[in-house]
Amino acid sequence: MGQLLDAVTAAPGSGRAILDAATREVVGYAPVHDTADLDAAIAAARAAQPDWDALGDDARRDLLRRIADDIEASAPELGALITREQGKPDGAGEVHGAAMWTRSAAETQIGPEVLADDGEHRSEIHYEPLGVVASIGPWNFPVMIAVWHIAPALRMGNTVVVKPSEHTPLSVLALVEVFNRHLPAGVLTAISGDREVGARLAAHPDVDKIIFTGSTATGRRIVESSAHNLARLTLELGGNDAGIVLPDVDVPAIASKLFWGAFMNTGQVCAALKRLYVHDDVYDVVVDALASIAAGTPIGSEGEGRRLGPVQNPDQFSIVSRLVDDARSRGARIVTGGEPAPELGPLFYRPTIVADIEDGAQLVDEEQFGPVLPVIRYTDVDDAIRRANASSQGLGASVWSSDVAAAAAVAGRLQAGTVWINAHGGLNPQVPFGGRKASGYGVEFGIEGLKAVAAQKVVNF
Ligand code: NAD
Repeated sequence: MGQLLDAVTAAPGSGRAILDAATREVVGYAPVHDTADLDAAIAAARAAQPDWDALGDDARRDLLRRIADDIEASAPELGALITREQGKPDGAGEVHGAAMWTRSAAETQIGPEVLADDGEHRSEIHYEPLGVVASIGPWNFPVMIAVWHIAPALRMGNTVVVKPSEHTPLSVLALVEVFNRHLPAGVLTAISGDREVGARLAAHPDVDKIIFTGSTATGRRIVESSAHNLARLTLELGGNDAGIVLPDVDVPAIASKLFWGAFMNTGQVCAALKRLYVHDDVYDVVVDALASIAAGTPIGSEGEGRRLGPVQNPDQFSIVSRLVDDARSRGARIVTGGEPAPELGPLFYRPTIVADIEDGAQLVDEEQFGPVLPVIRYTDVDDAIRRANASSQGLGASVWSSDVAAAAAVAGRLQAGTVWINAHGGLNPQVPFGGRKASGYGVEFGIEGLKAVAAQKVVNF
């Protein structure tokens, strides 16, 4: 398939077969690293860190700029690998995002800050490397999320060991290959292993910081291991984002944005719209508009234009099917979809809009992480806000209205790390992103993201 894949794939006899998400053909073989490989990677990262720090901020920024250009140049090949392994039709789009976030980590300004100065005494805060940073990632945006972890950590003078998801290791190994065309040995190492290797990495006594993006259940385990190694944590966990549509909304103007807020990457987005509360006055019009877009959106892994790919893996496919079946059995209305599309491949599921469903149904209360949106009717906005906030998760939320001030007032009452108005899910590399409640703690991106991979030292003059 190309040089990058050839460089990272193992010999068929020694590696684990990784399947194309759409066709289930073998894409390549992931090396199977064990705990000895992990220990060696951490020792190499520890040994390389002082020189990487001593290289200085300007030199590291220059390297990151060059790496960003190289990531961009690899978009056709790396993007095609993402499409096969992860399933998203526009794999190159994810690569462009990875280049953008790498560049942003290079360009963000950070330096000592003066906290107090009365003419006689001055206190400054300085940002220094933590040491060895571990990155543990998920399968939905394997390359972009790896960059979210790696680029800020490298910029701040840390060395990094990255453990991709066992579902999407090849594209992250290929990304690391691109980084390592520019980096000294030991500064960045990828370890391809399963959840046991992840657990060992999280518990390792020689790791200073863990950036974890994945499920809330795994996040809790990582918190437990951090009681022993006292690794600092950034936890980007699951979401069950609510959207609230106010009665004054202009439905034709927002319908497409609502749809893609929920169905981008086939719904496999941490901060996708996952429960939509719609006022009774516009409920039927919104449901019909969403169903018509869903029914008209092409599915398949190849072709021009925006389309929906497969669900990435069989376990996630089972979750999506179970949640829809439960909704159906409770009498909810499957307006469109509600079934697999086996003619396209075993993991395709038709985009599904479910109406006349209530809180308490599994599809509303649990994270579906797939191409299904439950639409819930409300009559009182205070009640909708209460239901939106009733979730244990608090990643994102959105409010939809023709009156921005009214939407902002509702936004102020929602318990989420990010609230969008008349949009859902857009991210900016300079704007901090993170969750509340069981969606995790700490933030990524921008200057706050750099501070999250730095030790803070106060110097008093
Ligand atoms: P997951 O928790 O199953 O796996 C994530 C990673 O953790 C994998 O690399 C896995 O090998 C590793 N792992 C598993 N057990 C481990 C352990 N005990 N210790 C250390 N590592 C371990 O999550 P997933 O299914 O890959 O991803 C889907 C979830 O990720 C969804 O809940 C989604 O909302 C969430 N997510 C969150 C964000 C965010 O920014 N908040 C972004 C993307 C995905």
